[in-house]
Amino acid sequence: MRSGIATVSLAAMALADKRIERACIICGALTDEVLPRVVDTRFGVPGEYAISRCSACGLEQTLPLPLPEDLKLLYETYYNFGGERGTTYTRLREWFFASWLYRLWLVLDGDGSFHTRKGHGRLLDIGCNEGRGLKIYRRNGFTPEGLELNPVAARVARFAGFRVYEALLEDFRPANAYDVVVLSNVLEHSLDPKRMLQDVARILKPGGQIWISCPNRESWQRRVFGRAWINWHIPFHIVHFSPATIRDLLAEAGFTGIRVQQISPALCVASSAITRLFAHAGRPTRQLRNPVLILSLIAVARTLMFPLLYVGHRLGRGDCLVVVGNLPAVSRA
Ligand SMILES: [Zn+2]
Repeated sequence: MRSGIATVSLAAMALADKRIERACIICGALTDEVLPRVVDTRFGVPGEYAISRCSACGLEQTLPLPLPEDLKLLYETYYNFGGERGTTYTRLREWFFASWLYRLWLVLDGDGSFHTRKGHGRLLDIGCNEGRGLKIYRRNGFTPEGLELNPVAARVARFAGFRVYEALLEDFRPANAYDVVVLSNVLEHSLDPKRMLQDVARILKPGGQIWISCPNRESWQRRVFGRAWINWHIPFHIVHFSPATIRDLLAEAGFTGIRVQQISPALCVASSAITRLFAHAGRPTRQLRNPVLILSLIAVARTLMFPLLYVGHRLGRGDCLVVVGNLPAVSRA
């Protein structure tokens, strides 16, 4: 009898563990698997993941969730900026991002980095990396600062004359609040996006703005490219937003006047096509770094596929979301 009870309670605990594992990271409800066996198609990170959708709030997330210590190691191994500067490549890149060609490109292709926005006031770029965006925000009239966890990248940005803090957003207590906080392709990497938005609200002035860009899980390219869709980007992308789920999350964090636009960058189409053709589980896709291949595919996507991309994002099926929200002008405190 006793062992019977023990078996039942062990089974109940295993079931409870399973439920916790499958719980939505926003609302805690159970999630259902919608796409199994997704692997990393960029760097060849080992492991298989699934995309799960919350039965209550509709959020999609990567499962199993990577542990914070595993994620730290993954970023250090595969992702982090290694400190390259002063090479022909970095000089060419610097020239391009400062040129009218880049501005023209953003007008044609869509601006998911907010690099065409002009204005003034204190701006914080979260995950500013080596400071490429900071230079552009400064040219556009803002007084930008950065938050960056990679010490090598932070040092390069400081060398270029910017104030860059090496802190987790949750521990960051700035002396002065910001007019704008930018999360360009950052929020979907968070294990706690709800907390991240609450922290942004904490460091913004009343009336301040949040600028977010992230992939759109309702993109038509997700259907066409399936597991090779470049924006799954597991295990680095934890959350996969739709226009509705990001709107709800922002509203819950106290933002109002939320505007969600869509863009379909040619680079994403080109990258998804390359991973569809060349990616193998456990191996990096070298073709993603082939400039001739990638530039040719970008040219094809932007010229021949222009009507398809345009209609796609007009119908709410664009590849990326570009979101702006405001804090109320009067403090809620
Ligand atoms: Zn949920």
